[in-house]
This record gives sequence, C-alpha cells and structure tokens, in this order.
Amino acid sequence: MTLDTLTRPLRDLRISVTDRCNFRCTYCMPKEIFTRDYEFLGRDLLLTFEEIERLARLFKGLGVHKVRLTGGEPLLRRDLEHLIASLRALGDLELTMTTNGALLARKAQALKDAGLDRISVSLDSLDDTVFRAMNDVDFPVAKVLEGINVAHEVGLGPVKVNAVVKRGVNDHTIVEMARHFKGTGHIIRFIEFMDVGHTNGWRLDDVVPAADIVAMINAEMPLEPVDPNYPGEVARRYRFKDGSGEVGVIASVTQPFCGDCTRARISADGALYTCLFATKGVDLRALLRSSATDGEIVDTLTGIWAARSDRYSEIRSSETVDLPKVEMSYIGG
Ligand code: SAM
Ligand code: SF4
Ligand code: SF4
Repeated sequence: MTLDTLTRPLRDLRISVTDRCNFRCTYCMPKEIFTRDYEFLGRDLLLTFEEIERLARLFKGLGVHKVRLTGGEPLLRRDLEHLIASLRALGDLELTMTTNGALLARKAQALKDAGLDRISVSLDSLDDTVFRAMNDVDFPVAKVLEGINVAHEVGLGPVKVNAVVKRGVNDHTIVEMARHFKGTGHIIRFIEFMDVGHTNGWRLDDVVPAADIVAMINAEMPLEPVDPNYPGEVARRYRFKDGSGEVGVIASVTQPFCGDCTRARISADGALYTCLFATKGVDLRALLRSSATDGEIVDTLTGIWAARSDRYSEIRSSETVDLPKVEMSYIGG
C-alpha cells in the first residue's frame, strides 16, 4: 500500500464528470463569473467513460475502495448510467454520487439499476425563498425533495442531504432542516462554508462553526456524539437521543481533518488533484491518450501519492485564501 509523506493511504477517489451545472449556487459558481459566455470544457477535453473506467481500475489496484462521482452537476453528463455500470463491473467498489437533485426523480431508478450504491443530495434550506436565492436559478425545494424521496424508494439510501451553511443567508433555517429530516431515515449534514476556488468571495465571518450548529440543534432536539463509521470519515456524527436518526457536521474550517484525508480527485478534464484546495493538478488525460501502459500509469499515480504533503485546512490563513485554487465545480466537491 502506498502512503503519502504524512503516512495517509489512498482510499477514496472523487471523479468530476462535467464542469457544467444547471445551478449557480452563490458559494460555488457565482453568476457574475459563470456567465453565458463562460468557456466550459469542450467534449474532446472531457475524459471519456472508457478513460474514467481505466483510471478507476488502476486506482482500485492501488487501494481505492470508494468512488464518488461528482461535478459540476453529474446528472448533466449524458448516459451517466453507462459509466456507473462499467465501474460496477470492476467489482468490489463502493459507488456513490453527489448531485443537486434537480434531475434525480427522473434518473434515480436508472442509477440504481446500473449499480450505484448510495447518493448524497445537496439542499441548503427548506425555505423556498432562501433556497431559490442560494441556487440562483430560482429552483424550488419541492423538486429536490421529490428527488430525495425517489432515491430513497429505489434503494439508494440512506440518502445524505448536504447543506452548506452561510452566515446570514441560511443559518436561521438549520433547526427546521434538522427537524424535517429527523425520523425519515435520511441523514442531514451541515457543511461549513469553505474558501474553495477563488471566485466565491469567502470570508471567515461567513462561516458558522460546526460547534454552533450542533448547539443550535441540541437546544431543541437533544443530541449525543457517535463514533465515526470508519477512520477518515469527514462528517462528525451525532445521534438524536430519542433514537430517531442522526445528523452530521463537516467542520472543514474550524476542525480540519487533513490528518485522515485519504482522498484523491480527478477533474472533468482528467487532472489529478491531491487536495480540494490545490492550485495545480497533474494531467492524466495526456498520459491516458499517449501510449503509456497500465504499469506506467500506475507508477505515475504511485509517485504522485508518495510525494503528497497537502494539509491545506490545517494551515489556512489570510494569505492562503487568495491563492489561485482550482474551482469546486471543476474538481468536484
Ligand atoms: N452539483 C453537485 C451538488 O451540488 O451536489 C455536485 C458538485 S458540488 C461542487 C459538491 C458539494 O460541494 C455540494 O454539496 C456543495 O454544496 C459543496 N460546495 C460547493 N461549494 C462549497 C463551498 N464554498 N463550501 C462548502 N461546500 C461547498
Ligand atoms: Fe452546481 Fe453543485 Fe456548485 Fe451548486 S454546488 S453550483 S449545484 S456544482
Ligand atoms: Fe484533504 Fe486537502 Fe481537505 Fe485537508 S484540505 S482534508 S488535505 S482535501
């Protein structure tokens, strides 16, 4: 098993299948930057399904046991279920996806049939006005809730519902969300607003610390901490004391978890990033489109992982915030 310079193994792979999105979440793809004229990747620049499958197979050989498809919005990639089926054929891999849920009600059954194991759906508020403003394309809450329910019915559960919390924008709706999902079998997770990319105007003042989020919920619905499901789990888990489910918080800013970070990411155009906050990736697409053998590609991947020293969230400062980091929509969450 290859370990990086901080003795972390490579266990998870996140693959962005498109840099496009049908939402313009203000914290991710602000409308002012991602305009109609924005140059998204052309088709020939995206990794093909065959290329993604080959990489996933090689990464699996290096110890990866979980693959998450993301984007941009992964459900915008045509015939995505064909990719899922080919990844499923690789055998013993946990296959998951993160989606904004807009197209989920329509596609959930096909995703399940192709072999997807579970799904995470992003939903920042149940307040329709707040949610429509956050996705900035006036998309209604009800359609995302419908997607979540269909995903649950077809067996893609437990559905994890991810909400990014931004102070003064949706923090007043946290408790309502926790109450709504309590007892449904879905797991709501609140994510601290992060300084990903360099276009979202992040300020530390906008972050509501996870500890405050837990305290807010606990005041109305008592919670107790639960052990992680596995080492390196990003969410801290809490159980409702009355036994009606759990909530999670992802405290990437106030309680960084780089020490356990076993994730590699591949952008939609096939660059490998060893940290969400990286400024540069390694072009795997060129390698895939050369005459390189599987063995040569594996050697490259091993070398990159062995040299990895990323721990951005542990060294975040006023200086690092302005680094030209890769955009979240490109690298995937
Ligand atoms: N479009 C899909 C979605 O929204 O679920 C998948 C890609 S999205 C980039 C993945 C996750 O990143 C989402 O849960 C989103 O809320 C989260 N995210 C995006 N920008 C963020 C930020 N600045 N801070 C924290 N989380 C963020
Ligand atoms: Fe799109 Fe997801 Fe980013 Fe929102 S968070 S703009 S849905 S990629
Ligand atoms: Fe992993 Fe980078 Fe996030 Fe730290 S900052 S947990 S190294 S992705």
